[in-house]
Amino acid sequence: MSKVVENAEILSNRSLSSEVSELILKSPEVAGQAEPGQFVMVKNEAGNTFLRRPFGVADVDGDKLTLIYRLAGKGTKELAELKAGSFLSVEGPLGHGFKLPVDSQAHICDEKGCGMRTVDAGLSLVIGGGVGIAPIIYTARKLAEAGKKPVVLLGTRNASEGFWTEYFKDFAEEIFVTTDDGSAGMKGFAIDAIPEIMKKHDIKHILVCGPTIMMEGIAKKAINDGIDCQVSLEKRMACGIGVCLGCTFEGKKSKKRWKICGDGPVFAAEEVFD
Ligand SMILES: Cc1cc2nc3c(=O)[nH]c(=O)nc-3n(C[C@H](O)[C@H](O)[C@H](O)COP(=O)(O)OP(=O)(O)OC[C@H]3O[C@@H](n4cnc5c(N)ncnc54)[C@H](O)[C@@H]3O)c2cc1C
Repeated sequence: MSKVVENAEILSNRSLSSEVSELILKSPEVAGQAEPGQFVMVKNEAGNTFLRRPFGVADVDGDKLTLIYRLAGKGTKELAELKAGSFLSVEGPLGHGFKLPVDSQAHICDEKGCGMRTVDAGLSLVIGGGVGIAPIIYTARKLAEAGKKPVVLLGTRNASEGFWTEYFKDFAEEIFVTTDDGSAGMKGFAIDAIPEIMKKHDIKHILVCGPTIMMEGIAKKAINDGIDCQVSLEKRMACGIGVCLGCTFEGKKSKKRWKICGDGPVFAAEEVFD
């Protein structure tokens, strides 16, 4: 797999809410290689921002690449003004994404004798919080395509973020939603829904992307309960390709110095939280 820089045509750029927009790009080279949990660095060559901005791969459909972005500052405001038919420079796909828990074949000896058997990976729970929901769309799609529809948990602020559920309707075993104010789904934070989900479903893996505080609570619970958990980290990054060292952290278990852009953004929970 190799990273490319592609001049991608904007097919659509529409608001999903007052703060969040969806950008669909014709980006055959990047879309053709992107894995769930990877990201791209984008730059509007005609704009006024010098550094590229990182965005998770929200979805891929053929040669179409979807990014979903929250209006944060100068770069994303410029992005929101771009119209269909204009072009954006896309560098990617970058980093290492989620390792998808899918069934595998293994040579096993059991009461039926020895031979190749299908090893069931078990059910995954994919969790997104805020705009961290974006990269779990493609993750859920790929799990569903591999015959392992996940349970999906979406942590949102209020009912105005109801647009997220539409993205998952074909890829989820069941969708749970929490809102901070109780205006839709369960009142509370994503972690508050986990006991109910665990009671209903036999969850073997958790894949999560969202604010650090949310991921920390979920990761600690997963580690405590012995559930495999992967977290997708986000830190300001200038280059996105491992050169500027602006996004490093020390692994809790390995004590290795990891680059979020090149070694991640997805890591095993134990490496990030303890
Ligand atoms: C690997 C990765 C994947 C990402 N995926 C997405 C995504 O799918 N959708 C999305 O909306 N955003 C995503 N982000 C965050 C996104 O890159 C920033 O919001 C964006 O660069 C802000 O650019 P700006 O010019 O609009 O804001 P700036 O003017 O650069 O900053 C505006 C405000 O946003 C804060 N900010 C900027 N970058 C980050 C960051 N990386 N993390 C936290 N706060 C930041 C600044 O501190 C400042 O307060 C991702 C970041 C990383 C590192």
